[in-house]
Amino acid sequence: MTRTVNELLAAGRPTWSFEFFPPKTPEAEPQLWTALRELERLQPSFVSVTYGAGGSTREGTVAITERIAAETTMTPMAHLTAVDHSVAELRHVVSRLAAAGVRNLLALRGDPPGLDPQAEWRAHPAGLNYAAELVELIKSMGDFSVGVAAFPEQHPRSPDFETDIARFVDKCRSGADFAITQMFFRAEDYLRLRDRVARHGCDVPIIAGVMPVTSARQISRIVQLSGQAFPADLADRFAALDGDRPEDKAAVRAFGVEVATELCRTLLAEGVPGIHFITMNRSTATREVYENLAHLPVTS
Ligand code: FAD
Repeated sequence: MTRTVNELLAAGRPTWSFEFFPPKTPEAEPQLWTALRELERLQPSFVSVTYGAGGSTREGTVAITERIAAETTMTPMAHLTAVDHSVAELRHVVSRLAAAGVRNLLALRGDPPGLDPQAEWRAHPAGLNYAAELVELIKSMGDFSVGVAAFPEQHPRSPDFETDIARFVDKCRSGADFAITQMFFRAEDYLRLRDRVARHGCDVPIIAGVMPVTSARQISRIVQLSGQAFPADLADRFAALDGDRPEDKAAVRAFGVEVATELCRTLLAEGVPGIHFITMNRSTATREVYENLAHLPVTS
């Protein structure tokens, strides 16, 4: 039986995990499995698979998570969102994952389908409105380890940081065992979130989401997807290195790895319970950061 994220966090050393997404085309599938196999060698604490906005990528989440559980040595975690699902459908997805031995789930509300993640949210008529309700549903179905999302720079739809923290704490109290943050680039944003949550008397472990930037183009996509600003000073430094020559691209990548390494170093020194890498289905940058931090203790 695979371990739960709870058990891994209880071991007292920071967890080290990787996030993948279901490929949109069959041609992109080998890249995912190459990255998974290469990162398997690092013996991560767990690996997660995101949940698509709809259609075949959703089926992909279940199929890939099942395959990780059956064919690799890694502990899988499936993301699940409430978007366009009735409660009956959500129960069905959770049951399939449970049957495949998946015990870790990240419960999310999700964003409205379409190109604009900031578009108005509409719940399925027989579905759920907030992630907290999904946590309760999953917990009512069995002995799962359930995580939720956290936002170091507040959720883009929240009116202010304090309201966001209060709702986050309520979400944790609905039964969440741990949280994983949206990607962020300044350690102080994470520390501010952690301190405010602790002030509310909530001690749910908050794993830090980190993404090494590997190209300057990625930055506008990060801003679009997360609905958050990218630090201007860092964006300027990436822009100054960027260019058309291969050595410019290599310099941007190297700087992205350096930035992610420094962020992880600071977070580990601050006692972060775990680091969750957004890999974009590629292994090299994550491996480089891992190697830079190799002397630091992590749980596998
Ligand atoms: P919620 O916690 O429900 O919050 C949504 C908004 O509602 C927030 O503004 C919150 O403050 C507010 N709110 C919460 N409760 C209440 C209440 N009772 N009354 C009023 N307002 C309330 N998306 C995907 O589609 N697939 C993925 O796989 C995926 N993985 C992710 C992984 C991580 C680590 C993170 C950080 C995000 C991920 N997302 C994913 C994106 C996520 O679905 C969106 O950010 C979504 O907008 C918020 O989801 P949530 O679970 O935080 O929602």
